Amino acid sequence: MATPTASTSQGAPFTDLRRWLAHLSDSGRVAVIREGTPLEHTLAAIAKRLDGKQAAYFPKPGGHSVPVVSGFMSRRAWIAEAMGVPESELLQRFRNAAEHPLPWQEVTKGKAACQQVVHRDRDVREVLPVPTHSEHDNGPYITAGLVIARNPTTGVQNVSINRIQVHSKERMAILMLPRHLWAFYKTAEACNEALAVAVVIGIDPLTLLSSQAIAPIDCDELEIAGALHGAPLKVAKCITNEVRVPADSEIVIEGRILPGVRESEGPFGEFPKYYSARELREVIQVDAITHRQDPIYHTIVPAEMEHLLLGSIPREATLLAHLQRSFPNVLDVHLAIGGVGRYHLYVKIKKTHEGQPKNVICAAFGAHYDIKQVIVVDDDVEAHDPLQVEWAVATRFQADRDLIVIHGAQGSVLDPSTTIGQDFVDGTPPLHLQGLSAKMGLDATKPVVYHEHVFTKVRVPGEGEIDLNAEIDVATRIDFLAGAAS
Ligand code: MN
Repeated sequence: MATPTASTSQGAPFTDLRRWLAHLSDSGRVAVIREGTPLEHTLAAIAKRLDGKQAAYFPKPGGHSVPVVSGFMSRRAWIAEAMGVPESELLQRFRNAAEHPLPWQEVTKGKAACQQVVHRDRDVREVLPVPTHSEHDNGPYITAGLVIARNPTTGVQNVSINRIQVHSKERMAILMLPRHLWAFYKTAEACNEALAVAVVIGIDPLTLLSSQAIAPIDCDELEIAGALHGAPLKVAKCITNEVRVPADSEIVIEGRILPGVRESEGPFGEFPKYYSARELREVIQVDAITHRQDPIYHTIVPAEMEHLLLGSIPREATLLAHLQRSFPNVLDVHLAIGGVGRYHLYVKIKKTHEGQPKNVICAAFGAHYDIKQVIVVDDDVEAHDPLQVEWAVATRFQADRDLIVIHGAQGSVLDPSTTIGQDFVDGTPPLHLQGLSAKMGLDATKPVVYHEHVFTKVRVPGEGEIDLNAEIDVATRIDFLAGAAS
């Protein structure tokens, strides 16, 4: 019987995209779409309909010779399966890898699969099948590109996923949030220099996940990928710059983020399922495109499961480590998918003292500014099951006693509800959202000491232990219509 957790099995981690796709395909989890799917909207629409059920593989999309794949890590259980651990060990495994990174190994020059074919002076849109996803997106976007750059001061690499709008033959606009890549770029730009980058498209699920680790600035996320793989990642030096890229990746765009240049980018439909506005952004000048002999292009449909899980799982691992430093009795955390994998955090604790859940709530707000709502539950509630969390709120929470509200804290600028009324005083709607957010914490735990039976969860003896396959009599058919009036 296939349940989401039953499909996870302990084994060797998947270190290769093609082996992972073959594994998904063998178990009926890849839908091959008929040839010629239009790259504008239709491809994303089909992938979205299959989200969380099957990966979608598009041969010759829009008549392009390079196929597109989407949604190959669109279930939490699949990601655990790629790691070779049960779902219950997913966060611990990721955390171990982040804490014990494994240095990469460089392959001999000319031996990297990702450099089998080299293009120079070619139009990105001709070489690669870049889809246009959402209704109001301002054109084709690269959404599953690992952007790799070297710290101009130390040479240590950083890996991130940034949305990239393909503007013209060899120019692309990139959104950089104020994190590591942005810091590298600012250092280069201060010296009026370009920042060399590689945009890697088509990579195994664990390397993709590693790119989203909340790691220190001088941690090369490719080393976390190596730790997850259980073997050093093989890398190759780019042809036009010093950046090292995973040697087995499908496609690499080599280029430079230009100093002092900004071009308009957006609107683009983002993870909260709203558009972010058109603004001036930094620009990548493309120098070369390299790829495998017959490459596969990966696209992530924004705000769908693949996108949300990529962001939420590494964050959960980091939040769990953060909370456990102060509260060893924190057992598990979950960033709810309904909260776009960012804003709503569920925390499971083994409560030892009255009031403790409120301390946990305050610590969680401090862990990441995106977190807007925290619900703390007891150890008899599965934090990854929203129905159980809602049950805990329904039966263990009283708003006058168990609610914390904090006014006017820093929130996510992509949350449209953070826009405040004053923005409209001159009659024009705001272009920039404020990111000023209230925080809400719910203590949905039962008292440490309570009268017998008041908080005793109803249970039928044997419900967990009975083997249904042994109990169900498949050989006997009952004729329920026997004796019924004709
Ligand atoms: Mn980083």
